[in-house]
Amino acid sequence: MIPASPSPLRISDLRERLRDLGCKPCHEDRLLRGWSQVSSYDRKGSPAATFFPAAMRNELPTIEAELDGLARLHGEYPADDEVARLLVALHDGQMVESVLLPRGGLCVSTQVGCAVGCVFCMSGRAGLLRQLGSAEIVAQVVLARRRRAVSKVVFMGMGEPAHNLDNVLEAIDVLGMQGNIGHKNLVLSTVGDLRVFERLMEGLTHKPSPQPSPASGRGSNREKQSPIPAVKPALALSLHTTDDALRAKLLPHAPQIPVDELVERAEAYARATGYPVQYQWTLIEGVNDGDAELERIVELLSGKYAIMNFIPFNDVDGLPYRRPSGERLARIVGTLKQRGLVTQLRDSAGQEIEGACGQLRARAEKAKETVRIKAQTP
Ligand code: SF4
Repeated sequence: MIPASPSPLRISDLRERLRDLGCKPCHEDRLLRGWSQVSSYDRKGSPAATFFPAAMRNELPTIEAELDGLARLHGEYPADDEVARLLVALHDGQMVESVLLPRGGLCVSTQVGCAVGCVFCMSGRAGLLRQLGSAEIVAQVVLARRRRAVSKVVFMGMGEPAHNLDNVLEAIDVLGMQGNIGHKNLVLSTVGDLRVFERLMEGLTHKPSPQPSPASGRGSNREKQSPIPAVKPALALSLHTTDDALRAKLLPHAPQIPVDELVERAEAYARATGYPVQYQWTLIEGVNDGDAELERIVELLSGKYAIMNFIPFNDVDGLPYRRPSGERLARIVGTLKQRGLVTQLRDSAGQEIEGACGQLRARAEKAKETVRIKAQTP
């Protein structure tokens, strides 16, 4: 008799449970493909009804219900035909945001809250509340795929992926190996952390082993030591300024790595993978939109395998920052393009619906708190 398991928050928990039900890697693979691609478990000449071991077939409805409960739609806020913010309720009532982006893109969250505390971001206001398990990250893709096709996943929602690296890389492996998403279309975003650079570079030099064999046993050292990633994602680096001292103020809890070193490490990864680094820069009027910054960007990124993405700050109540004028934005982008840098201006998706990343969740939490206080008031 198999003991009842809690919801599998991590893919490794799910794999372990399947092994307990007599599954081999081929069975795990088929279940993960069906789940992550929102498709049938049947194959031509090999229906699931005979392919899966009997114990697993019996347990499958329970497993499916648990996977469904990992990420449920709490609210959808469309901006246009292609872009919508999704407020996603997790199994324990915590909420995160995912964003449907143009051309089959999806932005997912990796943590509830965030410890980096960027001064211009709502997600970091309350600090880190909890990590998301890898299955909860993939579940956001499944939820989105139930609404429309997803061919690109960016890990740029709530949370700093470097602070939850095992779960993020496990989710990336499943999406790249079973989820039918091209590896260069999986974009890991970070404020810059040596752990990320080291793990990604490790993935380039080691033979991948995404699925521990049954013989390796549960809880083997290799599993505990963070598996080497099988999939090489593209890298996005949130720079926001070229000035180390200003960066320490804007991103107060990011590792204090000099900008020159960040660019050098990101460039090494870009050259090794063949995917350009996507630099992210939230433009704030009078803070990091000056000519001196532009000169330094040109100096830093000329000749590099890089794309500069500028995201104008979203005005947020209670924050003392403003987005630069449309004229200034056009001039910034025009200047860098003229100087030979690949430069894009991106609006934070859904700005006109509910503001910056983290605001939907903050608003939903406030509403829950109001209901709780009302219920307690005699
Ligand atoms: S911008 Fe990203 S890293 Fe910074 S606080 Fe927000 S979620 Fe965290």
